[in-house]
Amino acid sequence: MSYTLPDYHTAKPFRVDHDEREDYDQIHTKGLQVKWESAHVCPCSAAESMVFTGATATLTKEPDVDCVACSGSGWLYHSAQTITAQVLGNEVSPDLFAMYGSNAYGMIRLTTQPQHILEHRDRITGLDMRFRRTERKTRAGAVETLAFPVVSFTEQTGTTLDATSLQTVTLDMLHVTAADTSGDIVLDGAAPREYVKGTDFTIDGDGAVDWTGGANVPPLGGVVTYTYLTNPVFLVYNLPFASRQTYVRRKTATAVLKRLPNHADCKLAPFRFPGEAAVSS
Ligand SMILES: [Zn+2]
Repeated sequence: MSYTLPDYHTAKPFRVDHDEREDYDQIHTKGLQVKWESAHVCPCSAAESMVFTGATATLTKEPDVDCVACSGSGWLYHSAQTITAQVLGNEVSPDLFAMYGSNAYGMIRLTTQPQHILEHRDRITGLDMRFRRTERKTRAGAVETLAFPVVSFTEQTGTTLDATSLQTVTLDMLHVTAADTSGDIVLDGAAPREYVKGTDFTIDGDGAVDWTGGANVPPLGGVVTYTYLTNPVFLVYNLPFASRQTYVRRKTATAVLKRLPNHADCKLAPFRFPGEAAVSS
């Protein structure tokens, strides 16, 4: 058995149509600047010699860990561009007692103009948003590239002597301490040595830490902890309205299909996959 269920409408349909231009203007005037990078599955594939079939290499369809493009992450990014997007909610829930550090969980809800079509795994960098991060890294060379670039932000404060006197301060790297190759913290007298920007290290144009020529430099092979400011990076993981459009009839004889804003839920990226291009503002 089959059936046919026709649409119904009144003889003279009453309609109050949405003006899609308000969507563009709302995002344009109230949104934040974000860097949007579109995700692209890397075409690489690992070749494995299957034990049971002798020496013949078989393509597994898994990302190739030696891939020069994606370094085994399986993802590439293209069409990096700065767009304006509305950011609703910005929740970070540090997992306080986790072994792997802070800021493990966080998310934003993102609304973009219709032409900015978001998709799973797209990368969003909040250029107007600041985020404090603490990270341990074994010192391996003169220039240390952290999980995310160190970014400078200017903040307004009072002064120590006069809370009504406004001053501007610049913040980027906030605190650096180190342990030696035996795992013992490096001391300055009885207290942990604090490494100072401009004296012990500089921040280069890519937001990396350059120890060249520093007065006090942590030992190679020692672990250094950096607390710094950066732009938060998010990955799209959920599209609750994957494709939104509607028919609008406004000064037209017939209704016209109009695209509506895109919406995506994005999770905070706790680290940057090796091989995925550096994010900078
Ligand atoms: Zn690849």
